[in-house]
Amino acid sequence: MPRAPLLRVPYTDPLPAPKIIPTSASTASGAIAALVDFLSPSLLPSKTSTSQTTARSKLSTSPLYSSGDGGGGGGKTLLLTGAGISVASGLADYRGTNGTYTLNKTYRPIYFNEFCESHEARKRYWARSFLGWTNLEKARPNKAHEACGDLGQIGVVGSLITQNVDSFHPTAHPHLPTTELHGYLRSLVCLTCRSEYPRNTFQSQLSRLNPTWAAFLAEMLACGALDTENPDERRKKGLKTNPDGDVDIPDAPYTTFRYPACPVCLEKPPKRADGGGGTVRVQTDRDGAWDPKSEGGVLKPAVIMFGESIPAATKIAAEKAVDAADRILVVGSSLATYSAWRLVKMAKERHMPIGVLNMGGVRGEDAFFGDVEAANTGREAVRCSENAEKVLPQVVRILQEMKGRG
Ligand SMILES: [Zn+2]
Repeated sequence: MPRAPLLRVPYTDPLPAPKIIPTSASTASGAIAALVDFLSPSLLPSKTSTSQTTARSKLSTSPLYSSGDGGGGGGKTLLLTGAGISVASGLADYRGTNGTYTLNKTYRPIYFNEFCESHEARKRYWARSFLGWTNLEKARPNKAHEACGDLGQIGVVGSLITQNVDSFHPTAHPHLPTTELHGYLRSLVCLTCRSEYPRNTFQSQLSRLNPTWAAFLAEMLACGALDTENPDERRKKGLKTNPDGDVDIPDAPYTTFRYPACPVCLEKPPKRADGGGGTVRVQTDRDGAWDPKSEGGVLKPAVIMFGESIPAATKIAAEKAVDAADRILVVGSSLATYSAWRLVKMAKERHMPIGVLNMGGVRGEDAFFGDVEAANTGREAVRCSENAEKVLPQVVRILQEMKGRG
């Protein structure tokens, strides 16, 4: 494997419509049947999945590769989920008809280096985040997240990787091992001392430091302007935005937005990393807002921002999950980020059956399905374009019945 850091980068090119596999999976009931066929080998104890083990043992002697059942998770399916699975919880997908890229043409995510280097960029980020947090906080996992947990419970799924930062998976199924590939919004992490800090507490502090914005947020929540991600609908309900999609309050533009410093660094300033002696200067104004004369103590959401490397431990955990599985099912992801796409590519290189349940196209899916035989009924490959929260609970119900009979 290359040793270069794995960066998170956005991919916004349009994707072609999917080729449904098998062709019978073009209806909801056909998709359910094909998904059951795809997942059912994972109902069996791992040692009976001989064809897969044989196919895999012929492969090269990659050191990542443990023989036989892959170290305990053998025979099981790995789930890989993305933004599509959270749409039914009221969160916007980046893509798709109601996606951020479709509705808000000027939308541009912040990059890691901008966040680290620019106080101005952070003010803009936190002003937006302050208004957006209440929507995420009140959103809850949906039936698709619960179905993922049920698949774990009946032994079909051994672990899950998600690209989502909304924490719905760990909330819905705390017992199914989950790797959050792109981190999570529920916490902040200090760029200097790496301490984590709950986002809820931070939100209260943002309210206190920015009373005009807090009053504006209350007003916008009351009129429902923040119930939608659509900028036109938001404006109709009274939200004032700049041409670049940012919100500005006339007497409190976001350039005046204030955010707190890391409480750990403030209390006990860490030693300088350059070894020159002394401590990192961290200071605040009299209300506790981070002072730009500081040299550290900046809090960042505990997500992997665009342009930021995925931590080595997370990358290794995700690769181990692929190695331990016998098949992989992608749910609600167009695999637009390379960090997720490469995991499926890795599964393909290990000759694992691949399934994709996603509304609309997937980046480079020909690479996964180009060699599927016409006789395949879903067992070796499935590609369907249905709502996960509608079909997955049905798939679970049928697999539970099969398990009961078996
Ligand atoms: Zn700190």
